[in-house]
Amino acid sequence: MTNLVTDVASTVENHPEATAIAYDGQELSYEAFWSRTGQFAAGLDAAGIDPGDRVGIYLPNLLQYVVAFHGALRAGAVVVPMNPQYKSREISHLLSDSGAELVVTLADLAPVVASVREETAVETVVSVGGDADGSIAFEEFIGGDEPPVVERADDDVACQPYTSGTTGQPKGVLLTHRNLASNARMAADIAPDGTGVGDRSIGVLPLFHIYGMTVTMNAALFSGAAYYPLPEWDAQTALSLVEREELTIMQGVPAMFNDLVNQPEADEFDLSTLRFVNSGGSSLPIEVLRRFEERFGLPLYEGYGLTETSPVTHFNMPDARRVGSIGHTLDGVDAMIVDTDFEPVERVSEGPVDEGETDLDAITGELVVAGPNVMKGYHDRPAANEEVFTEQDGQRWFHTGDIGYWDEDDFFYIVDREKHMIVTGGYNVYPREVEELLFEHPDVADAAVVGIPDERRGETVKAFVVPASAASGGSSGEGTESDGVQTPDADVTEDEIRKFCLERLAEYKHPREVAFVDELPRTTTGKVQKFELRGHEDGATGEK
Ligand code: AMP
Repeated sequence: MTNLVTDVASTVENHPEATAIAYDGQELSYEAFWSRTGQFAAGLDAAGIDPGDRVGIYLPNLLQYVVAFHGALRAGAVVVPMNPQYKSREISHLLSDSGAELVVTLADLAPVVASVREETAVETVVSVGGDADGSIAFEEFIGGDEPPVVERADDDVACQPYTSGTTGQPKGVLLTHRNLASNARMAADIAPDGTGVGDRSIGVLPLFHIYGMTVTMNAALFSGAAYYPLPEWDAQTALSLVEREELTIMQGVPAMFNDLVNQPEADEFDLSTLRFVNSGGSSLPIEVLRRFEERFGLPLYEGYGLTETSPVTHFNMPDARRVGSIGHTLDGVDAMIVDTDFEPVERVSEGPVDEGETDLDAITGELVVAGPNVMKGYHDRPAANEEVFTEQDGQRWFHTGDIGYWDEDDFFYIVDREKHMIVTGGYNVYPREVEELLFEHPDVADAAVVGIPDERRGETVKAFVVPASAASGGSSGEGTESDGVQTPDADVTEDEIRKFCLERLAEYKHPREVAFVDELPRTTTGKVQKFELRGHEDGATGEK
């Protein structure tokens, strides 16, 4: 039996006194946390929420998020996490598509829900932090004491996060109790000697995203660790929390680690209590890893996953890591690199390959994975489900949409997402290869590469660069504005960047255009919004 509710219940039984959540001076022991979730479940029961009904959570990382999430599961409901930055158009889609009947939100966000209520099945709005019109205050809602006992099977859906996948409107991802519990258990076990009572984990990754949900929150609650939610990323706040509360575990995305590396004040904080730091969500540039380890003296471990796989499939275990790779598969997860006929691509004998000098097309294919953490399917999307699964030899393989290669020592490498590949004059260019090189330039603090239309070549390579002078606050702020993008006063020039790339890459891969920007547009989970850089509207609902 692998179940989110019963597994957290056994932590509560084993460590009732340990701290479960600490937020803004408030602390909830496991016993107190469990009693609050029971009260929330009773509130849902009283509001007519039945097992299998959808409950939306439209909140930043707060103590109430954790209570609502686990309270909803105890009532047998399915949680629909929603990004608190979403506006009414996006919220309307998520609520209508999921059929959510109840939404927990901030009093400040309640008007957004109210504005789309008529288009949805929402009957009850619960608000945190005040009485918004037409809603019930959180504290009032959790009145009752007797939680309904609702048993859910391992294959019952527990959570329905939304992801854009390859194109179009975000799709609901059906994740079962088995999916989420197996991955939270695996994530908790990865830390050296496992995660346990006495560990204190910083919750800077947003809880509406699977990485923060499973790897930070649920892995902590599965093992008796304390979870410290933070509503938004701010390097100074995060560093002072680590120092003050002597936190031991930190998960982040590459953009956060790059931010820390570029923080002039970071050395003022004592981070020596951190014993396990890991990165995921997008590729960690090797240069950022090096600079981070050098500056903070802490190893930084990279993992890989997707919403559809709950999320983690690969991780650089502390006792077996290869910088630049996503590591080995987790126990119980299978993975292959396959070609378009679903034939496994041959492995390279030694990894990592020198990307600049290797014919990537010959050694790469699509990463496919199978395991207890792979989603049941997309909600109400038969065509999409047809596309992403291949049944073979009794295994149900999920197509990740990521291109990579594998070596004979079972390390996997991600080259890029399939749809980010640039085809220029008949040649394929994977932006990540050019981005890794740009990070090596001493005057480059951040970089992203996209394909832009080109009459002669179909597409051509364009680089967006944040110069080091802008990242460390050295820009005079008197930059010029062109095409709506603020251009910092770069010390480095376009010609220098192009020459640097031309000397190190095949000619067709070098950026024919370079734009200097103050920062790159990113999602809350650190992914560069490439559609915005390309100037397209196609990703208006977000993209991987
Ligand atoms: P999401 O569903 O939002 O978690 O996005 C999943 C996608 O993030 C994957 O398909 C990858 O494209 C990307 N991703 C996550 N971790 C890594 C990593 N370590 N290296 C490269 N890409 C990653």
